[in-house]
Amino acid sequence: MQVTRRRDTPGELALRAALSALRLRYRVDLSLPGTRRRPDVAFLRAKVAVFVDGCFWHGCPEHGTWPKANAAWWRAKLKGNVLRDRDTDARLAAMGWRVFRVWEHDEPKSAAAAIARTVRRMLITSAGT
Ligand SMILES: [Zn+2]
Repeated sequence: MQVTRRRDTPGELALRAALSALRLRYRVDLSLPGTRRRPDVAFLRAKVAVFVDGCFWHGCPEHGTWPKANAAWWRAKLKGNVLRDRDTDARLAAMGWRVFRVWEHDEPKSAAAAIARTVRRMLITSAGT
């Protein structure tokens, strides 16, 4: 079974609405060279990539569950997702990107505020180089 990446999940839409409310301009599902994963939200100039991680698929410590049926298969699958997330983080970091991960359970407004602070900081840093 292939895990198809769900786009425009409620968590993503809520976060995007909160970012728009802060007048931040972002790109959705931008593909970055050298990685196969697309950030859910990307700030090109600031080089900030945001992923909204589903609690189940990405092993949220609060809400992640291990299905009982086909337990071994699920364990490998979900662990694989988490490993892939860390790999994505490392690849993006190597390209000079700041990776921001938001759980789908996170409150969108406070997540957006934290992202906005990071975007502004990255823009100031890049302006100085
Ligand atoms: Zn969660």
